[in-house]
Amino acid sequence: VAESSDCIFCKIIQGDIPAEKIYEGDQVLAFLDVGPLSDCHTLVIPKFHCARLDQCPAEFLAAIAKSLPMIASAVVETVDADGYNVLSNTGRAAGQLVGHLHFHVIPRHTGDGLFKSWPANKYKEGEIKQFAKKIRQNIQS
Ligand SMILES: [Zn+2]
Repeated sequence: VAESSDCIFCKIIQGDIPAEKIYEGDQVLAFLDVGPLSDCHTLVIPKFHCARLDQCPAEFLAAIAKSLPMIASAVVETVDADGYNVLSNTGRAAGQLVGHLHFHVIPRHTGDGLFKSWPANKYKEGEIKQFAKKIRQNIQS
């Protein structure tokens, strides 16, 4: 498993920095965010150093996908949440603060006031088809 010596999450994986770990598998670690948006806000990370989702080996992503429902259920049960957000910020522009891929599991309660707005825009006429076409051309499988 690759790691980076100046990465805070790699240090948590190594045990060099303490964290409240709630789940650990061969390829995945989950622990409580020390700056929670709500109680039991959890971070789920691959035990492989990569900054971006698109740099993460498929086997680690598969392990994350497998563990997320289990982790989310346990977190929701613990705080009796009405729902939860799963999100990953990639790049500074998107609000990524630690350069090691991570998924937030944020428990939500009705009316909790987090993420008050969803600033949806509208496409101009025909624009959605053009974007979709370009993305299809850029998809590499
Ligand atoms: Zn790392």
